[in-house]
Parts: sequence; structure tokens; C-alpha cells
Amino acid sequence: MSDRPVRVRFAPSPTGPLHMGGVRTALYNYLFAKKHSGTFIIRVEDTDQARFVEGAQDYILDAMKWCGIMPTEGPGLGGDYGPYVQSERKGLYRPYAEELVKNEKAYYAFDTSEELTKMREQAKEMGMPNWQYNSVTRGSMQNSLSLSVDVVQSKIEAGEPYVIRMKMPRNVDVRFNDEIRGWVVVNTNNLDDKVLFKSDGMPTYHLANIVDDYLMKISHVIRGEEWLPSAPLHVMLYDAFGWEAPKFAHLPLLLKPDGNGKLSKRDGDRLGFPVFPTNWTTSSNEVYSGYKEKGYFSGAFINMLALLGWNPGTTQEIFSLDGLVEAFSLERVSKAGAKFDPDKTKWFQQQYLRATENSVLAELLQEKLNSDHDLTVLSGLCGLVKERATFIGDLWEEGSFLIERPTNFDEKTARKKWKSDAPTIMLEFKERLDEIDDFNPENIESVFKSFLEEKSIGVGSVLPQFRLLLSGKGMGPSMFDIASFLGKKETNERLEIGIKVLATQNA
Ligand code: GLU
Repeated sequence: MSDRPVRVRFAPSPTGPLHMGGVRTALYNYLFAKKHSGTFIIRVEDTDQARFVEGAQDYILDAMKWCGIMPTEGPGLGGDYGPYVQSERKGLYRPYAEELVKNEKAYYAFDTSEELTKMREQAKEMGMPNWQYNSVTRGSMQNSLSLSVDVVQSKIEAGEPYVIRMKMPRNVDVRFNDEIRGWVVVNTNNLDDKVLFKSDGMPTYHLANIVDDYLMKISHVIRGEEWLPSAPLHVMLYDAFGWEAPKFAHLPLLLKPDGNGKLSKRDGDRLGFPVFPTNWTTSSNEVYSGYKEKGYFSGAFINMLALLGWNPGTTQEIFSLDGLVEAFSLERVSKAGAKFDPDKTKWFQQQYLRATENSVLAELLQEKLNSDHDLTVLSGLCGLVKERATFIGDLWEEGSFLIERPTNFDEKTARKKWKSDAPTIMLEFKERLDEIDDFNPENIESVFKSFLEEKSIGVGSVLPQFRLLLSGKGMGPSMFDIASFLGKKETNERLEIGIKVLATQNA
């Protein structure tokens, strides 16, 4: 590790909402920064004005806030290296591009986009489909390397639009040690003369990214694998400026659940799971669903994401955010793509819901129902059914009968279990229950057991019927817990009412 203080950045382009892969990149940056007592920065890379999407920047920051992975430097957050939005830094980049031209690392190119298209087409006709502006072709193009100084000067004075291109040297091996992939070596013959500065006065991603990483004293660049092909150019740029390059770590791709290709924005709603942290509404009012609105806890979502491409080296799967900070290292990030697993994501949510205090679940349920149910009652309800729930809404689906008397009795169970002798058995059982003073689960269970013994009947002749009468359902938590929760009076009344209703339902 470099001995520079750790400063990492998440550098999204506001071209749309933040996809799950982007959240994971932000998360790994956050974890790495915290682990090394460093600084986590967000920088908005909006140099491509044509792809700018209104609302995306706010969405990204709000989503990161929901995830609990807020940077400490960034737009609206303060920091000594701002502004943190590239369009607000516009004036700053040109001198850097000019410096490269002066040092013969870059050059002016006057070729119009029509001329470039024509060139590509001609090359294609001649059997070269992948024409590139590079060390071989640049000599026959319109640029400050092929034209005389006077011509170049007069073109600039005449206000002809031009770009500044990187002068990629011929046949040089560019090498860097990626923290995840090890040594990466690329020969410059495979690289083209990328545009660094555009004719609209804006830098391209490449130049702005390098200049800002340098000015913001970024120590480690942790980003998605899709940027790996750009890394050799970035290394060359650091070299051209004479700056120390940050360390690079290129994260593995997130793959579709079947492992076939990259998880894309379109996969989500198509395959039945969200790919965005929170809902995203397009300008034409189309809504893409988010984990938050689907009912996921941010902790569960983050925990799941952390393990997509990283592993702690143990079998532990449940980690708090602090636990992740503690355990995280780039060495344990894998090179291979990580398959997204929607079922496992649900499993994480289940584990988080189960581990949440009943009183907290009760408040969340109260809020979801927008009701004024007593919180102690709701808390008891949550305790009884949380093992059967994944989302807050499930708690009510599973447990509403604990507050509201059933009006429907599960037909299948009624047909199978409500035989002709059931009313008599249940009335008798009701009488035994009535004799209990302290209506707690243990007492109810022991009365239940002696009742079975005394009548020489099996569990199946009482328990499913008991459940049906009290809850209307065929399955659920322990009946002794349910009856105790309802109390003796309510249990009695439900038994009476249920027996009457079932007499008509099954008639
Ligand atoms: N703006 C780039 C993106 O949208 C950032 C890549 C990088 O981190 O260098 O992902």
C-alpha cells in the first residue's frame, strides 16, 4: 500500500440512476476509506453534457444516504478540494491539456466528425473495419503533427474547431499493478489517440478524471471492470504529467442470475427484482423499482452487495456496516464476475428482519399500516410472526388475525379437519381452557396435553381445529403462544364464534 493518506472517490456520471453495481463500487470505496481511516469523496463526472439526466445527481446522493454510505467530501457536503462537480470546474482543465501539447504528449486535431466518419468508411471498404486515430494513421490526418506550424496557427486564429488528442507512443508496454488483478500489461499499439479535450471547451472523461484525481489527492482508484481498458491511457497520462499515479483496483462485474452476461438496468423489472437502490422515475413518468420501496432494509441490501465479489475468508455472512469495515480488504475481492442471486437477497432481508427488535418492527409496521394500533400489542404480534416474514408487510399478512378476528376460515383446512365430531371436541376443550387461571403458553399446553390423553385422541383432532378457529388459517406460529397472546376471554369468544361460522360454512 502507498503511504499516502487514503483518499478514495466514487465518481458517478449523472446519466441516470445509480444501478446496483454502482452502489457496490461506492460501498467498496466507503469500506476501504473507513478501514484505513481515510476519506471517502463523491465527485460528479458530468463532462458529457449530452448524456446529462435531470435529477440523477440528487438521486445518487439520496440513494447513498439511504444505504448509509455517505461520503464526507462532495457537492453540498463541503471539503477542501471542491468544487466536486466537473462542470463547475470547467475552466480548470484546458491549461492541463495545453501543457501536454507543449510537452509534445498531445496535439491539436482539426478533423471534423464528417471527415472522421468518411475515413472510417473508406477503411472499412478496404477491409479494415476497426480504423483508429493512432500513431500509424495520424500522419495523414489534419493535426498539429501533420500540418505546418503556420497552418495550425492560422486554423486556430480563424476559430476552426479542434480537439486535443493524446499522442500515444508506438510500441510501448504500459504496465501497472492492479490491486485485484495483479500486473496488467498493454502495448500502446493497441491504444488509439484518445480525445482529451473537446471542441465544445469541455475535457473528456479521461482528462478530467486524471486531473481531478491528481488535484483531489486520490490515493486509490476503486472502480468497475468496465474502466479497465481505460486504465493504460490513464497511466500514460499520469506519466505524461509527471505525477504519481494512484493505485488501481478494478472490481469484477455483476452478472445476471444465470451468469450469462452483465446485470443490466433492463434486467431488473424484467426478471422480477429491482436493480436500483431506490425507485427511479423517468422524465416520462416510468417507474423503475428500488430495494427501499420493495421493503428491503438498507442493511440487508448493503450486506448482500458487499458479498457480491468480496468474501471475508470465513463462512460468516451477516455483517453490520461496521463489521464490513472491519473485515474488508481489496485482497479478498475476486477477479471473476459475481452472479447476482435474488433469492439470497431475500434471505438477507429475512435474517435482518428476524434480528430486529420487536419494538422496532412494531414501529415500522405501525408506520406502514398508518394505523394507531397499540405498539405493545404490535410488538407482541411481531415477535410471534417474524420467523415467518421477510418484509414488514408480511408481518401484518401473517399476524393481523392476532388483532382482528378472522372472518374467513381457510377452506382447505376446514374441509380436511373440521369433521362432524369437531364441534363437540372443541367445545369441551374450550371448557378446559376456561379453567386455566394464568393463561400462559405453558399452562395452555399442559391442559392441551392432558385433554388429548383423557380423550385418547391425537394432536390432529384438536390442534388444526384450534388454529382454524382462532386464526382462520391452516398454518402459523405456536397455538399456545397465539392463545396466550389473545387472552382467555378473546380465545373463548373466537372458539364460540368460529364453531358457529364453520357449522354454516361446512353445511
Ligand atoms: N465517471 C465514471 C463512471 O461513470 C467514473 C469511472 C472512474 O471511477 O474512473 O463510472
